[in-house]
Amino acid sequence: MSRSAHPAGPRHADVMSDGHYLAPADDLNVLDQKVWSRTVTRDEHGAVTVGGLTVSRLAEEFGTPAYFLDEADFRARCRAWSDAFGPGADVFYAGKAFLSRAVVRWLKEEGLNLDVCSAGELATALDAGMPAERIALHGNNKSVEEIERAVAAGVGRIVLDSFQEIVRVAHVAQGLGKRQRVQIRVTVGVEAHTHEFIATAHEDQKFGIALAGGQAAEAVRRALTLDGLELVGIHSHIGSQIFDMAGFEVSARRVVQLLAEVRDEHGVELPEIDLGGGLGIAYTSDDDPRAPHEIAKSLGDIVTRECEAAGLATPRISVEPGRAIVGPTAFTLYEVGTVKPLEGLRTYVSVDGGMSDNIRTALYDAEYSVALASRTSDAEPMLVRVVGKHCESGDIVVKDAYLPSDLAPGDLIAVPATGAYCRSMASNYNHALRPPVVAVRDGEARVIVRRETEEDLLRLDVG
Ligand SMILES: *Cc1c(COP(=O)(O)O)cnc(C)c1O
Repeated sequence: MSRSAHPAGPRHADVMSDGHYLAPADDLNVLDQKVWSRTVTRDEHGAVTVGGLTVSRLAEEFGTPAYFLDEADFRARCRAWSDAFGPGADVFYAGKAFLSRAVVRWLKEEGLNLDVCSAGELATALDAGMPAERIALHGNNKSVEEIERAVAAGVGRIVLDSFQEIVRVAHVAQGLGKRQRVQIRVTVGVEAHTHEFIATAHEDQKFGIALAGGQAAEAVRRALTLDGLELVGIHSHIGSQIFDMAGFEVSARRVVQLLAEVRDEHGVELPEIDLGGGLGIAYTSDDDPRAPHEIAKSLGDIVTRECEAAGLATPRISVEPGRAIVGPTAFTLYEVGTVKPLEGLRTYVSVDGGMSDNIRTALYDAEYSVALASRTSDAEPMLVRVVGKHCESGDIVVKDAYLPSDLAPGDLIAVPATGAYCRSMASNYNHALRPPVVAVRDGEARVIVRRETEEDLLRLDVG
């Protein structure tokens, strides 16, 4: 981390809100390839380009704020994940990170499967032609209608999240004369976020059925007796933005232990194990995510070793990356509206969006980086806070960062790694119009989700 309580005499070190120091990068004009998608670079005039198009031209054509998604990068990440896991495993993209019909088509073409967790996500997936058997339905409170639609469509699996749901799905399937493939989501008592994981007491949350106290074993017992269900495996998802594999290791060990218990009690070897998603990406230069092939090797080794020890055949593994696929593929482009220096504190840079297009900073204290995108600058770095235009002082996009001190209204700034959980969590707060998502590829830009209009807003307001 460049945040350090003991600044080793950096050129410009400023005290941030949490009392630590943040040193500016040596050259603010250099784009750290780790946090930008693969086709992003600066052109000969210094403007940021993506897919061969400069941000000034993109802003002119599509307006700001807007998300620009690097399609080549998205497809390359899909391939990296499916190549890493190979034909003996399944990669499910977690649609909640960002879903649109174009995304579904790319996933389909690149051979990935898709997780959905609502009727809306399911409708998008089916409408764009994702084969139902490649779709998994998640959620801790799926409605009967959602279950009916999923079963009727023939989704490949439903992940059961409670005792009530076991019965509910079995009932729906039987009513439709089907036998639904299901997994049971268990809570392994591990919760992992970013750099740490906690291995006790995390049964205290809404998702899954606890392994502790034999609850998950009881869920398996019940699922195995119901005609409408074909129990194919156990599912575990331990957190988000995880860099350390230790949490997955504990999780895999506990799930395999359950598989062994199931074999001993029922004489059944469940053929699938799903280890969930949550793999971290670089939001700032301080983050060091692992490559998909390292993750695949690590997870594969853990499961194989645990199964050998338990005398089980290795089950088919699946994973569900959302953020790790789409997160790094997009940046948000904003226009600077005001620049307000607060003497001895920092400079507030207000942009034309904010918490309505990126709630993660306000919601999770998430960290982001930012760059002056429409030009380069040799001006001294200044400590900034990038804020939105909403009526809320917590409306912060980037809490602490450096931008050149000649920053002025009209400049374009870009916040990288906003592909996941930004457009999908966008709101209409202050009747903001949700920004478009523009896919850029080989010198061509195409709107895949259009900007909302005042007409859209007023259409819902029926007086
Ligand atoms: C949210 C979620 C994911 C995806 O998480 P990412 O952090 O985007 O990888 C995968 N599986 C389940 C069950 C989830 O709830």
